[in-house]
Amino acid sequence: MVCREWQRRIPDFLNNRMSPQEQEDFIAHVHTCGDCYEELEIMYMLAEGLEELENGTDTSFNFKSMLDNKLKQAQLRCDRYRCFEKIKEMIMGIMYGVTVIGIVMQLLALFSVRG
Ligand SMILES: [Zn+2]
Repeated sequence: MVCREWQRRIPDFLNNRMSPQEQEDFIAHVHTCGDCYEELEIMYMLAEGLEELENGTDTSFNFKSMLDNKLKQAQLRCDRYRCFEKIKEMIMGIMYGVTVIGIVMQLLALFSVRG
């Protein structure tokens, strides 16, 4: 994906509207692309700043560390998701293996009864 497309997806990232895979690709991109990171930072500041104004809370927050934190959390979610996917795959593999063994055993039983 080109930078412009990533930058168009920034609101989706900020509102957690990305799939884990997209989120991971997005994070990887902003970590290597200064332009997109800057854009993300600006959008984040705008979004958070507005929210704080609405809530009347302290606006002296450190946006950069807040954004870094958000990126870390998102990456963590991706890692967890991938871990979950791996476990799911493993279970599916085991279940598949068990099914195959079951079929083989049934076939063997069938043949031994006949034989
Ligand atoms: Zn970029």
